[in-house]
Amino acid sequence: MRIAATNLALFLAFCSPAAAAQPQNILVIYSFGRFLPVNIAIDQGLRAAIQSPTAEPVIVFDEFLDVPRFAGEKYLDSLAAFIREKYREQQPAVIVAVGEKALDFVVDRRAALFPQAPVVHLAVYRTRAGSRPLPADVVGSWVAFDYDRTIDQALRWHPQVRRLLIVIGTRTPDRRYDDDLKAAAQRFAGRLAIEILEGLPNAELSKRLRELGDDVVVLTNGFYLDEDEPRGSPRESARRMAAATRAPVYGPYETWLGNGIVGGYMTDIAAVTGTAGKAISQLLAGAAPATLSFPAIAATRLNVDWRQLRRFGIAAEAIPYDAVVHFGDRSVLEEYRPAVIATALVMALQAGLILLLMYERRARRRAESAIQNQRAQLAHAARLAVAGELTGAIAHEINQPLAAILSNAEAAELMLESGPGRLDELRAILADIRRDDLRASEVIRRLRALLARQAGPPLPFELNEAVRDAVSMLGSEARRRETPLDFRPAETDIVLSGDKVQLQQVVINLLLNAMDAVADLPPGERRIILEARRIGKEAEIVVRDNGHGISPEALGLLFDSFYTTKAQGMGLGLSIARTLVEAHGGCISAESHPRKGARFLVRLPLGDKNSGEACEAPDPR
Ligand code: ADP
Repeated sequence: MRIAATNLALFLAFCSPAAAAQPQNILVIYSFGRFLPVNIAIDQGLRAAIQSPTAEPVIVFDEFLDVPRFAGEKYLDSLAAFIREKYREQQPAVIVAVGEKALDFVVDRRAALFPQAPVVHLAVYRTRAGSRPLPADVVGSWVAFDYDRTIDQALRWHPQVRRLLIVIGTRTPDRRYDDDLKAAAQRFAGRLAIEILEGLPNAELSKRLRELGDDVVVLTNGFYLDEDEPRGSPRESARRMAAATRAPVYGPYETWLGNGIVGGYMTDIAAVTGTAGKAISQLLAGAAPATLSFPAIAATRLNVDWRQLRRFGIAAEAIPYDAVVHFGDRSVLEEYRPAVIATALVMALQAGLILLLMYERRARRRAESAIQNQRAQLAHAARLAVAGELTGAIAHEINQPLAAILSNAEAAELMLESGPGRLDELRAILADIRRDDLRASEVIRRLRALLARQAGPPLPFELNEAVRDAVSMLGSEARRRETPLDFRPAETDIVLSGDKVQLQQVVINLLLNAMDAVADLPPGERRIILEARRIGKEAEIVVRDNGHGISPEALGLLFDSFYTTKAQGMGLGLSIARTLVEAHGGCISAESHPRKGARFLVRLPLGDKNSGEACEAPDPR
C-alpha cells in the first residue's frame, strides 16, 4: 500500500505542469553580514520550516548585501547583476528578503532579478510598511520592538529604579529603531528621569556606564563598533555595555541573551521564520501570493537570562509564566522548590541522625572500654583478695623449700668439717638445694603472674598447662585443708586465645568454692575433680565436688554480684568468673543434685570469640 501511494505521488508530480516546471530553489537575500547572529538564527529557522511539496528537495541559497560595510547604488547594481548571472541556471522559485535593505534591493531591481519569483520578506521593521507600497507578489509580516513592555517589566523587576538610560551608538543599525526607542522612553517620562546617551565614543561611553548606580536601567538597540573590528556587531556592543556597568541592561534581540543583558520583549524568531517558511512552502506548491495571510506585526515574547535575574535578585515567582527563560537551572531549583526544600530537609535530617549515631557509637565505645578497664581492675582486686586468702598456704609453700635448703646447707657444712672424701654426697646435697630453690621461685613466679595488674592482649596459651599451674598454686592450700584436688587434663593439647591469668583466676575461684563446699565432710570423703576436655569446637573445664550442693533457689542467683551464703563470703567470685569467661566469648553454668554436690561447667570457643549463647541451657553431661 505504501509503495503504491508513493508512486502515485511521484506520478502526479510529473504530470502536473506547475510542479514539473517549478524549480525548488529558494534564494534568501540578507541585508547584513553572513555571521550576524540573528541571520544565523533566521537561516536555521527557515531551513527547518520550509517543506518541499514534491519529492525533490528544496535547495536554499543565501546572499548577503553586507550593509553597512558595503553600500551605494553602484555596489548594489553590480551585486544584482552578479546574482542574476550566478543563478542563471538555478533560478529561484521564491526569493526571501531578510531585513529592509534586502527588501528594497529586491523590489528596486525586480526586473533584473528573476521577476517571475514571488518575494517573501521577513524581519523588516514596521515603518517600511507605510513608506512605499509593495507589489502584489511581495508579501510578508512586519516586526516591531516592544520597548514599552520591556521598560514596564524592567520597572517591576527593579522597583528602586528612578532613571532610564537610552544608549544610542554612532553607527546605529537603523535610525528608526532608535526613534521608536526614544518615543517609548518618553512615554515613561512621568515615572522616570529619561537620559539619552547618543553618539559617544566607545571609551567615553564605557566610562559613563561604569559610573552608574543601581537606580538606573539601561535600554539599547546596540550599535556597530569600529569598522575594523570583525566581531563588531550590535550584540558585541551590548555585551560590552553590560560588562561595563552595575545597572541592568535590556535590549530587543534574542541573540543577545547570554552576553550579560537581562532580557526584554523580543521578536520571536522561531515564530517569524515559521510563518515565512509556511508561506514559502505554499508558494512552492503553487499558491498565489495574494492568498497568503500574515500577522500584521510578528509576535514578541519576553526572553530572560536566568543568571542575570539571579544576579539582580529577581525571584523565579516574579517571572511571567509565558516568558522564555534562557540558561535557567530554574527547572531544578525553583520549579521544584518545595521538593528541593523537602529533599534538602530530609538530607539535613539524615546528616543530623548520622552525626548523632556516630556520636552515640563513640560514646558507646568509650563506655565499653571503661567497662573493660573496670572489669580488669575488679578482676585484679579479686586476685589480690584470693592471694590474701592464700597467704598462709603460699608462705608455707615457700617456707618448705627454704627450710629444706637450710637443713641441706647445714648438712653440707658438717660434711666439710668432717674432712675430705665426701664429694659425691656434697654434689647430691647441692642438687637438692638447687631443686628446692627452683621450687620456691616457681611459687613466687606463679604468685606474681596472678597478681599482674594489666590484662594483656589476647595471646595463645595451652589449657592443660594453664589449669595445672592454677592447681599447683592451690596445692599447699589444698594440703592445709586436707582436700585432694584431682586434676584430669585433656588427652591432647588445647590451644586457646585470651588472657591466661584471667582463666586461671576462674579455675582458682571454682576450686576455692569447691573446697569450701566439701569442708563439712570428713577429710577422707572429700572429692574435687577438675577436668579439661575438648568437645567439638569448644574447650570445657568442669569442676565437680561432692559437697553440700546448691539449693534450687540459689541456682538462679549464684552468678549475681554479692550473692553469698558464707559468713565471710563477698559474693564476687562467681560473678567475676562469669564476666571473665564471657569476655573470652565463653559461658559458665552450674548445676547441682541434692546430696551429690555441685558441678560447674566453663565452655570456651577454640577459634574466634563467639557470643556464648550456648550457655543458656546448661549441659547435663
Ligand atoms: P563467695 O564464695 O564469696 O560466697 P561466690 O560468688 O564465689 O562468692 O559464690 C557465691 C555462692 O555460691 C556461695 O556463697 C555459695 O553459696 C554458692 N556456691 C559456689 N560454689 C559452690 C559449690 N561448689 N557448692 C555449693 N555452693 C556453691
